[in-house]
Order: sequence, then structure tokens, then C-alpha cells
Amino acid sequence: MTMKAMVLHEITDLADNRKPLRLEDRSDPSPGEGDILIKVTACGVCHTELDEIEGRTPPPKFPIILGHQVVGNVADSGAHAKKFTTGDRVGVGWIFSACGQCKFCHLGKENLCAEFKATGRDADGGYAEYMTVPEGFAYPIPEVFADVEAAPLFCAGAIGYRSLRLTGIRDGQRLGLTGFGASAHLVLKMTRFRYPNSRIYVFARSEKERDFAKDLGAVWAGDTAEEPPEKLDCIIDTTPAWKPVVEALKSLAPGGRLVINAIRKESRDQDYLLKLDYPKHLWLEKEIKSVANVARSDVSEFLDLAARIPIKPDVQEFALADANEALLELKEGKIRGAKVLKLA
Ligand SMILES: [Zn+2]
Ligand SMILES: [Zn+2]
Repeated sequence: MTMKAMVLHEITDLADNRKPLRLEDRSDPSPGEGDILIKVTACGVCHTELDEIEGRTPPPKFPIILGHQVVGNVADSGAHAKKFTTGDRVGVGWIFSACGQCKFCHLGKENLCAEFKATGRDADGGYAEYMTVPEGFAYPIPEVFADVEAAPLFCAGAIGYRSLRLTGIRDGQRLGLTGFGASAHLVLKMTRFRYPNSRIYVFARSEKERDFAKDLGAVWAGDTAEEPPEKLDCIIDTTPAWKPVVEALKSLAPGGRLVINAIRKESRDQDYLLKLDYPKHLWLEKEIKSVANVARSDVSEFLDLAARIPIKPDVQEFALADANEALLELKEGKIRGAKVLKLA
């Protein structure tokens, strides 16, 4: 049996190559002993895929099928895979597997495992009609979500959830968000639900994003370098640049923490780091922490939380064969809801 897949064959620059992925017939993957085979019904399109295509977080081998926000139904299980039965609806996120043996894995911090493998980078992902995954890295999906609504939750939502956890926020503390894309707007919604007494401040370059943030309940929204009326206990940065990091640090309260949620930073404005002024930006025990990948607990806890709130992302659907268009729109900042490939 063969399936359709959108396949990446090499690192390339989207500015010159507007069709980095090729639609191909591939033989269906078959599940290993501990794996399930998923018939994919929806797969979200993520900024990280631009990083993979353009080489900022390159796949170790080619060809590779991208896609790490996958929803589908179990079509088959390997001999030792007992967690799901055929037909069950499941999802897969950025974490594809980890060693299961190291100290990080034992602590539930498999996102830090040296053997961490990412879906759609280190193993074939969901830009295809079928994919396989170790059963322990697939999750049931709450019923309230349609397939296309669930897909975007698997990346932006789960990593947003982890970022929020890593801030250490308590109810009533002030949260800042610098950058207001898919992940940040989900963080705003979860924060309002989980920490109803916390005030949220948003820094964004575009006026549209600032208005959107205020519509969603931010008490203040300003440009990247503006100073909010009060200092903030924690800030999450979701931008690809350095200026927002430096500028956010000046708005942090003593003992506050800045969490950087970015898989890679672009080097374009790296010089901005030279503006770092120790007394203004770091003194008084301010902290900077990055957030790396997601652990399984982040995905399952977030799905549960999203169903309770509920968080239903606005989605823009594309056919599998139109994945290149979806990626280009993302690259060009044409964001009208989360982009999702809809299959079947
Ligand atoms: Zn491990
Ligand atoms: Zn992603």
C-alpha cells in the first residue's frame, strides 16, 4: 500500500525556493513492536517547520516528512502496543520519543533527554496520510475538540503551558508576554482561567496584535520597548529576536523571571545584546530561563486544561498538497488563525 506525503529532501531557503516540499507516493509505514500506526486526519503547520526547512534546527537525515501537531485514528498496533485499540482518536506532539532510562526520563523531564527525538524532524511526522509513533508518546484527545481544532494545541498550546509553568507564577502575580502569536495568545487564555487575579501585559510590534491582546483581556498592551505602568513578576518571550529579551528585562520586578520560548533565536539583531545594562536589566536577582521541547505531562495536562476552559483555536484549513502555501504564508506573517492541513 502507498500513501501520499509531503516530503522534504534538503535544507533550502524559502525566499528562493517556494516549494520546499514535494508531494510523493510513499509506502505505508509499518508499526514497530511498541508503536501504533495512525491514519492522519489533521496536522498543524508550525514556525518550527520553517526552522527545519531553512536549517536552523535541521533534520539529521533526508528525506523527512515534517509535522508535529498530528491528529488521527489508530489504524494498527505493534505486537507489544496495548494502550490503544483500532479506531481510537489520538494525537502526537513535538516529543516523538526519549530513552526512558536516563535521570531526566526518570524525573519526567524527558524533554531534556540526550536521546530526545522530535516528531517530523528526527522521525517522520504528520504531513502524510499515515505515521507511526511509540504508543507512549500518543495521547487521547478530549471529545470537545474537532480534529482540526485539536491539532494546533499539540505544539503552541503544550509548549505555552510548559512556559507558563516554568515562570513559577502564582495567582495574583503580574505576567508579561512579549510577542503575541499562536502560543502567547493561548497562554493568555490559560492564565486568565488558572490565575484569575493575575494581570497580563502584552508587548507586541503590531497594533493589530495589541488590540487582539486587549480584546482577550490583557490589561495593557504596548510596543516592544514601551514600559508598562508596573513591574512584572514574570515574562514569557515568544519572539525570534533579541531586542524583546533586553527590553523585557527592564520591566521585570526584583526576583522576576524571563522565560524564553524559542527553539532558536535569529542572529539578525544579536548586537542588541550589547545594550544589556547590568543594573537596569539583571541586578536584583532577575533570572532568564529557556524552555526546551515538551514533556509528555505538558501535553496531557494542557489538553485537559484546554478542554475545561475551553480553548478552541481559530483554524485555517489547507489540503495536504498545499502545505507549501501554508508554510509560505506563515513565513510572510499572514496569520489568520492556526494553519492546519486537513486530510481525508
Ligand atoms: Zn532519557
Ligand atoms: Zn511546533
